[in-house]
Amino acid sequence: ALPLVSGQSQPKICVSVRKRPISDKERKRKDHDSVTCYHPAVWVHNAKLKVDGITKYLDHSSFCFDYAFNEESSTEDVYRHCTLPLIEFTCSGKGGRATVFAYGQTGSGKTYTMNGIEAMVAEDIFHLLKNQNGPNLNDTMVLVSFFEIYGGRIQDLLNKRERLKVLEDGKGEVVVTGLREFEAGSPEDLLEYIESAQKKRTTHATEANDTSSRSHAICQIVLRDKETQSLKGKLSLVDLAGSERGSDTKSHNRQRRTESSEINTSLLALKECIRALGGSSKHVPYRASKLTLILKDCFTSSLARTTMIATVSPGGSSADHTINTLRYADRIK
Ligand code: ADP
Ligand code: MG
Repeated sequence: ALPLVSGQSQPKICVSVRKRPISDKERKRKDHDSVTCYHPAVWVHNAKLKVDGITKYLDHSSFCFDYAFNEESSTEDVYRHCTLPLIEFTCSGKGGRATVFAYGQTGSGKTYTMNGIEAMVAEDIFHLLKNQNGPNLNDTMVLVSFFEIYGGRIQDLLNKRERLKVLEDGKGEVVVTGLREFEAGSPEDLLEYIESAQKKRTTHATEANDTSSRSHAICQIVLRDKETQSLKGKLSLVDLAGSERGSDTKSHNRQRRTESSEINTSLLALKECIRALGGSSKHVPYRASKLTLILKDCFTSSLARTTMIATVSPGGSSADHTINTLRYADRIK
């Protein structure tokens, strides 16, 4: 069994990797399993990498993370090690900002992982608020909002995809104007809001040529004091756009190209912002993208905790994307 850490001793940044099982589709096209996860290490075997148009072969490359989950790990395993400590941290009522990111290539399991985690979060937030010393359901409100950033537009998934604006006021406070926040009174209630937002994403995806791979989805759960409205804790669960979008920058479709460069910009800014939180960099370029601007307090608050779950596909045909994902995650540590 992997070691567990409790909320308070959780380091500021936790970086883990999850490998999904090989799919029937991959098996059918004889895609071999090119990734080995043996906690805390991850190996990629026989990767073919294209660097400036030249194909290079790597025998194997290896990386080490805080946690490495293999294809047999469940979402609950990932949740217990990488998210539960952050829920405890958020619920302790000190105004903590906790953020969980799923980063990886399209098809690597980001949504599978985040949707599962969101359901467990809904249960545990109420469980903690019922049973802990400290903030509890008598004095604390649980509020939920869910929105998507797609092609630079922010859309409210709990309010008919209403377009939203993000503003930074004179005091440096960032607000998403028009964003609907709903109060949830029970885990079932919270889960209902979350699931209705998740459904809007997938329906839209089949309609418009998988826009979900090109959008960031952000679920925010905020705890506020019932009387003073002051913020007691905030949890953001972020299902990021597919990290492979870099390759689209040469696409003939102009809209695709613009979307891709926006995704690249936001993922690069995100990396730098998380590095700054960990102290590896002084520069916090949170204004560089809408994603990082919205999450400003998650990078700048002295009470911020972040978990990155990098998801990878096992197939040899994805090995170059897998290595890019692991390199990105490695840079954040
Ligand atoms: P992404 O959001 O990164 O594009 P998805 O979460 O949609 O990827 O996953 C792609 C496919 O793989 C889905 O059919 C999903 O059900 C399946 N999948 C992903 N991760 C796992 C896993 N750990 N175990 C079983 N199936 C998985
Ligand atoms: Mg997805």
